[in-house]
Amino acid sequence: MHPDTLAVHMGEEPLLAPSSLVPPIYQTSVFTFKDLYTAADVTGGVQEGYSYARIGQPNADMFAAAVAALEGGPAAAVAASGMGAILAALVAARDGRAVAAADEIYGGSVALLEGFLRPLGVSCLRFDAHHPESVPAEAGAVLVESASNPLGRLSDLSALATAAHRHGARLIVDNTFATPYLCRPLEHGADLVVHSVTKFLAGHGDVTLGVVTGERDLVRQSQTALVTFGATPDPFACWLALRGLRTFGVRMQRAVDNARGVAGFLAGRKEVLRVHHASLPGHGDHALAARFLSGEGPAILAFDLQDEAAAARFIERLEMIRYAPSLGDVSTIVLHPATTSHRQLERAEQQRLGILPGTIRLSLGIERLEDLLAELAHALD
Ligand SMILES: *Cc1c(COP(=O)(O)O)cnc(C)c1O
Repeated sequence: MHPDTLAVHMGEEPLLAPSSLVPPIYQTSVFTFKDLYTAADVTGGVQEGYSYARIGQPNADMFAAAVAALEGGPAAAVAASGMGAILAALVAARDGRAVAAADEIYGGSVALLEGFLRPLGVSCLRFDAHHPESVPAEAGAVLVESASNPLGRLSDLSALATAAHRHGARLIVDNTFATPYLCRPLEHGADLVVHSVTKFLAGHGDVTLGVVTGERDLVRQSQTALVTFGATPDPFACWLALRGLRTFGVRMQRAVDNARGVAGFLAGRKEVLRVHHASLPGHGDHALAARFLSGEGPAILAFDLQDEAAAARFIERLEMIRYAPSLGDVSTIVLHPATTSHRQLERAEQQRLGILPGTIRLSLGIERLEDLLAELAHALD
């Protein structure tokens, strides 16, 4: 079945209430056993079943099954947040060795490496994902993003997987920006895929959740890490995420179309110095988009105005499009990376990554394109 159909139907087996059309919420922190022997077998892992909700619960399993189907992974583990998923994946994949992350990576992932793993004594390395040969040989786990934040830069996932595997390392791809609608990293050789479900997968700005999917043993180890850290999810969050996932295909289609339409519009405006979106023929990653993003650009784009003052004026003039430090919502969201998501970087480092004082990020929602263009034109005028 097409992924859009899988998103509507997978994970729907209601485990305890077979007649309900929509899965119930198992809002319980513990499960009961009918006898001592079942309890012993479930606790010992000899028999499938639920015991204690931190260890596993039906709503998490339903959502995990759906994401595994979408990404083409044999198994998935649900985390309380995207950060929980990334931590669990790194711990599972590194196998006692160093952790390496791409230079262009989500700020929370940088904080995880520099502020948490390094102080624990884990060797943390950075490299340029646009040069797969620079993947450090010491690394056991290599973390990259399928489309980077905020400029939507792409990299050659197959070459990165080959480079990581040459050193016996595992490639983890954060697929939050591209989503399985555009990119399925496991098909390009990645060992694990992680998501901030908070963004496009849940899609309605009302839930914080994460997921790890991919190779079965690594997912099992990620799940053990989540259970041990206490970073497993709440049943209601899993239920909301599965409900949000049902409309994934139509939401993504509209958002991706909107991104392409807005990119073309902005490219024709004199106030806009540069548009960063892989759908544009002049974009440096246009050829990579054909190989790794179903020939499209992501539903997120960035563009450069003259300076920070111009960016501030532009954002103040927006009415429908709101300013929020997130993405992947049904509504279009704007962000100024230099003063929010990337503020911890020195100006020079921001510049090196192409994040200028006038750079603005737009995460496209599912509004009608003509209304978005009218709003953007008004703010630019
Ligand atoms: C938001 C985000 C995360 C973190 O996810 P949370 O759900 O906020 O923990 C990780 N990676 C990327 C690319 C993100 O955009």
